[in-house]
Amino acid sequence: MAEDTLDVADQAVLSYQKELIFSQGTEGHTQLSQVRLALERLREGTFGECLHCGQEIGEKRLEALPWSAYCIACQEKVETGQIEDVVRAA
Ligand SMILES: [Zn+2]
Repeated sequence: MAEDTLDVADQAVLSYQKELIFSQGTEGHTQLSQVRLALERLREGTFGECLHCGQEIGEKRLEALPWSAYCIACQEKVETGQIEDVVRAA
């Protein structure tokens, strides 16, 4: 009976950990795409240009988030769904 109780608790912990790993994995994948795209743009010489409007992203923003794909104005539009996020789609 003690073993049964332990099993239920173990299963609960396991499924919680799986969910945690899954949610972290999804976020990690997005960041990986961002970094991968940033490296590609570095190679192509377009690094630092907004993927949507082509304007310079800005030094301060790149210092804080070197893999930024959009300028601040376009990032806001991505977050509010006004333009398609090509990084997330990649
Ligand atoms: Zn832009």
